[in-house]
Amino acid sequence: MPRQPLNSGAMTLAPAPASATPLVLVGAGLASALIAQRLSRGNAPAILMLEASRQAFGEHTWSFHEADVQAADLDWLAPLVAHRWAGQSVRFRDHARDLASPYASLTSASVAAAMAALPNVELRLGNAVTAMNPDRVTLADGTTIKASCVIDARGYQPSPALSLGFQKFVGLEVETEQPHGLPNPIIMDASVDQRDGYRFVYVLPFSPTRLLIEDTRYSDGGALNLQELAGDVAAYAQAQGWSIKSVVRQEHGILPIALAHDVQRFWAERPADIPQAGMRAALFHPTTGYSLPEAVRLANLIAAHWPIGSAALARKIRDHAFARHRRQGFYRLLNRMLFRAARPEQRHLVLQRFYKLPRPLIERFYAGRTSAGDILRILSGKPPVPVHRALACLREAPLLKPEKP
Ligand SMILES: Cc1cc2nc3c(=O)[nH]c(=O)nc-3n(C[C@H](O)[C@H](O)[C@H](O)COP(=O)(O)OP(=O)(O)OC[C@H]3O[C@@H](n4cnc5c(N)ncnc54)[C@H](O)[C@@H]3O)c2cc1C
Repeated sequence: MPRQPLNSGAMTLAPAPASATPLVLVGAGLASALIAQRLSRGNAPAILMLEASRQAFGEHTWSFHEADVQAADLDWLAPLVAHRWAGQSVRFRDHARDLASPYASLTSASVAAAMAALPNVELRLGNAVTAMNPDRVTLADGTTIKASCVIDARGYQPSPALSLGFQKFVGLEVETEQPHGLPNPIIMDASVDQRDGYRFVYVLPFSPTRLLIEDTRYSDGGALNLQELAGDVAAYAQAQGWSIKSVVRQEHGILPIALAHDVQRFWAERPADIPQAGMRAALFHPTTGYSLPEAVRLANLIAAHWPIGSAALARKIRDHAFARHRRQGFYRLLNRMLFRAARPEQRHLVLQRFYKLPRPLIERFYAGRTSAGDILRILSGKPPVPVHRALACLREAPLLKPEKP
């Protein structure tokens, strides 16, 4: 596909030299891939993706509930999707449930293949960006690349405007000796020993003899002992009667769980004229640390305004992030209940109770679309945490570090 000329007739497009690339995406991760895929329909602009490391798209399995996104999104996401299932299940000490909620996963390999199939997208590895301006980026070797629009999608960056707990996990993708017999994902098996906060095992069946098994903890601290958790995965497999023939690959993550977020301060720390995307923009679900549904929303927003220049897009993303922050206040409150009001060994009871609620409510929760009625439903009844400790968690501000004068 030929490169498209700049659409200089668009009111929002910043003036840029004739040789400028329409879009430069800094960082080849999930957010960039979704933006590129979404914009590569119809009149696709030339997109340059710059990745610092030698491997684009990391070592990830990115999953989502299909109800997290709209039906139209499933269409454009399809080339990126590696696995889909019709249902999912959860297991707790005193409760187990199968849900007919479809689930899907992208993998680093499926995303890389989808990007390679887009003729308008050029990916350059080993290209660390050292400086960004609205109309250009500078690489570590001093090269400057001109662009009409630059998006910073370099992944998560710690900020004093966020107070966090952590979801940390180690996953082993394994080949089993015999068919494992698991038809659908186990989203949470929290019937396991509760250690280091809320602990559960997450299992994705990729083929009759292939599983991704992740040992996950919702913990106060971000330290992750890879060896210990890998051992716990192996022990879990054995307890399920799955004999491991080989470990194919390993992945791990330490995802931010937002307890408090000062959105004004967060965005004041960022350049006003460079659009931010993905985890860089703190666009993630506060309770799961997952960013895929938010990245889909953002890709749609960019597509709705395309073509657009850096400064105008930065303003739109900022407004969008403020709106999402308002919608996410309840999730941060729940996180404070989970991390500050519930004792670590009691956290699983909060989730067990949640999973007794109606399926559409659960789906809206993961999608970040919880309604006022859902909130009432979630908070009604006897809370699984002491009331005085719950009341102490109501405000966000005490959890945030004071700003330097
Ligand atoms: C193992 C793992 C599994 C996860 N699973 C899920 C899941 O199932 N569902 C979900 O929704 N979320 C999941 N997440 C959370 C979140 O969605 C991911 O962290 C996601 O990859 C974030 O996307 P991103 O594009 O913002 O950042 P990233 O995917 O981290 O991409 C940022 C990229 O920018 C590159 N970069 C950094 N600095 C520079 C620079 N100066 N120049 C050029 N490139 C640079 C990095 O090398 C990286 O490749 C997972 C996270 C991890 C770690």
